[in-house]
Amino acid sequence: LLAADGSIAATIFAEMSALAQRTGAINLGQGFPDEDGPAEVLDAARQAIADGVNQYPPGIGAPVLREAIAAHQARWYGLDVDAASEVLVTAGATEALAATILAHVDTGDEVVTFEPSYDGYAALIARAGGVHRTVPLHWPPEQHRPDWRVDLAELDAAVTDRTRLILVNSPHNPTGAVLGDDVLERIVELAVRHDALIVTDEVYEHLTFGVAHRPIAAIPGARERTISISSGGKTFATTGWKIGWLTAPAHLVTSVLAVKQYLTYVNGAPFQPAIATGLGLPDTVFKDAAASLRAKRDVLTAGLEAAGFTVSLPDAGYFIVADAAPLGYDDGAVLCRELPDRAGVVGVPVSAFVHADRQHAYRSLVRFAFCKRRDVLGEASSRLARLG
Ligand code: PMP
Ligand code: GLN
Repeated sequence: LLAADGSIAATIFAEMSALAQRTGAINLGQGFPDEDGPAEVLDAARQAIADGVNQYPPGIGAPVLREAIAAHQARWYGLDVDAASEVLVTAGATEALAATILAHVDTGDEVVTFEPSYDGYAALIARAGGVHRTVPLHWPPEQHRPDWRVDLAELDAAVTDRTRLILVNSPHNPTGAVLGDDVLERIVELAVRHDALIVTDEVYEHLTFGVAHRPIAAIPGARERTISISSGGKTFATTGWKIGWLTAPAHLVTSVLAVKQYLTYVNGAPFQPAIATGLGLPDTVFKDAAASLRAKRDVLTAGLEAAGFTVSLPDAGYFIVADAAPLGYDDGAVLCRELPDRAGVVGVPVSAFVHADRQHAYRSLVRFAFCKRRDVLGEASSRLARLG
């Protein structure tokens, strides 16, 4: 966040991608694919540009995309969303998160997230003047393939009448965990009891490996207090297009739009119909993308285990969390700084996703991205084997 001299520190992703560029190491730090997604989506963007879709679209989003988002929620989750009033297109999930938090968190309001959590959450909560409360995802290192566990009593204790917003992220970055029904249902119960909003970041909704994604908005009692956020970036391997969205009851869309209009006003006109095309593609396209990613996960898991890491097998997403302690590293941040020289690979320390006061439980953990070509993951695995 802010350094003592008031300067803004670079995010861990910028720092690690710069390190990869400087050293020529394989970048398994920042999560972005190294292959293009569906040709239909890319062609649709080219076509839109050729057709002159190049000026400001409506601030709330191009109608064709809002229709496609509403249809997607109905098709995959049975959710009834009004395209005209309950959908807002944003500059990636990032802007949806930023505008939502700036619109709904005032000085002193408490925001509950799990921990570790995507680094943008803490930064945005701090910027809004909010107080960040966390619920730990527990890593039990005694198991070979640990599951991340939520202690429901810890969740209960974190949510109070001071809680303005519970920020959920499932599938989860960095752990790749998919929160169980018991956890999701308890979150809804607590939000209702304490009159809190639920904000759910579901950018990895389609990238699951044999575990179904359940949107929290589908749980009875949730919908009227839930802002659901997603993005075309992950689903269609177009992270650089920055087309995201949220769906929520109309009054919440209105309050977030009030902030969004002065952040970006509108977003990438030709990319909006292209993402709409993507959302309308057959189920097989979504499933094939997840299956291909799952195979990549397995390549990197095998590589990390062969190199001596203890690996938490992710159920979803782009990332594997691996424990470097068996290799003799008790500090993942130190390892990540040395890794380009020692092994020609870049990873991100999980400590970047954890508050400074609570580092100890996550200190030896490193996050590696597996959304890369199989040959790249194979090469990274051979290089990591040098660590042992
Ligand atoms: N939330 C999570 C959990 C993410 O991992 C990311 C990006 N990797 C984002 C939000 C940001 O998404 P976008 O690129 O669509 O802004
Ligand atoms: N979400 C991606 C990650 O976690 C990209 C993050 C970023 O560039 N801010 O790596």
